[in-house]
Amino acid sequence: MTILMGLMSLVMAAVWRINRFVPGLTWWILAHGLGFLACLELLTRGRLPDVVSVASAQGLLLGMGYFIYVGARRHVGDPHPPHWIGALMIGVVISVAVFLTTVHPDFSSRFLIHSLALGVLFVLTAQAVAKGGAREHPARYLLATVSLMHGLFMLGRPWLFTFDLDGPMSLARMTAISPFILLESAVAFNVMAFCVLLLVAEHSHGELRRLVDRDELTGVHSRRAFLHRLQQLSEGGGQRPALPILVIDLDHFKRINDTWGHSAGDEALRHFVEVAQRCMRVQDTMGRLGGEEFAVLLPRASVEQAQGVAERLRGLLVEHPLRLTEDNVRLTASIGVTVLLPGESPELALGRADQAMYQAKSEGRNRVVSMLAPLVTEVRVA
Ligand code: GH3
Ligand code: MG
Ligand code: MG
Repeated sequence: MTILMGLMSLVMAAVWRINRFVPGLTWWILAHGLGFLACLELLTRGRLPDVVSVASAQGLLLGMGYFIYVGARRHVGDPHPPHWIGALMIGVVISVAVFLTTVHPDFSSRFLIHSLALGVLFVLTAQAVAKGGAREHPARYLLATVSLMHGLFMLGRPWLFTFDLDGPMSLARMTAISPFILLESAVAFNVMAFCVLLLVAEHSHGELRRLVDRDELTGVHSRRAFLHRLQQLSEGGGQRPALPILVIDLDHFKRINDTWGHSAGDEALRHFVEVAQRCMRVQDTMGRLGGEEFAVLLPRASVEQAQGVAERLRGLLVEHPLRLTEDNVRLTASIGVTVLLPGESPELALGRADQAMYQAKSEGRNRVVSMLAPLVTEVRVA
């Protein structure tokens, strides 16, 4: 068990070197370090005075439980109680254990208090880490399950091991049940260590997803995430209703960069998104296709509603210029509207929306052009 705990601590330290920004990880590494020290301490049993052994073993194990709890709260972004409360709890349990070893020897009560304190910590850990939904964060719920099982075992073990035997627990009986207690702890701590590794992977995966799915500058969907959403919404073949799509390109954007600088250009892109989002509903998806070109999906909207949104967006943008310290920069956009027809490929529909947008450009910009079906209908709205 000592070797296993040592190896697990080393594995966690190696993970820390790869990604040290996972919330709670430092606390979990410290916890396993304490677990390793507690195992080393067990190996020295009999060589040190009883009271020193008891105080150090209980301190290390309670410290480990407390650090796992703090790590769990940190990981899910919740504040943890002030450390003095943890220190006080550990101090009180150790003092009682020392009292029950030297002044008033009573192994049963000592075992009971230690088990209850650890049990409560692991149940609290389970409750703290089970957050955010099992589908989104399966590793959190796995750790919560292991933690809960370990906590319940801790809470129940004083009764489990006194069952069908009378009288206070003797040192001989303590020695007899120790292998079972150790075995349970070894399994629980090592499974928890694996859960922590899974949590690290889950966290890193979430970070990567956020990086690739969000446009860093404006916060809307990245091109990749937008196309993925379009693909998702296009599934369902002939059964699904037509899906309106807008493609929006800012007019003469290069001039903004050339006149006010690149950072004003960035500011203009953020301003545009802010204005555009005022016209969106929660179910709409806005993505940045690249540069100053954006696209919007409007599920469950009719063609007329989509054209209305495009017009409103165009008007709002004209009404709300970008305010720079010296100047007000008027922004305009050319917007192409189309619908993804049932059974049609998303690429085809997006290409048509793009075509409509280019037509709006060629007709003088700052306008909305609808192209509702390939080379058949062509409706001009502005
Ligand atoms: P048009 O009306 O025909 O669309 O003209 P335009 O100037 O908007 O189009 P053009 O494609 O000539 O220029 C787009 C400019 O957008 C060029 C590029 O430097 C700028 N741009 C692209 N991405 C960014 C960005 O992230 N930040 C800034 N500041 N500028 C960007
Ligand atoms: Mg442009
Ligand atoms: Mg462009």
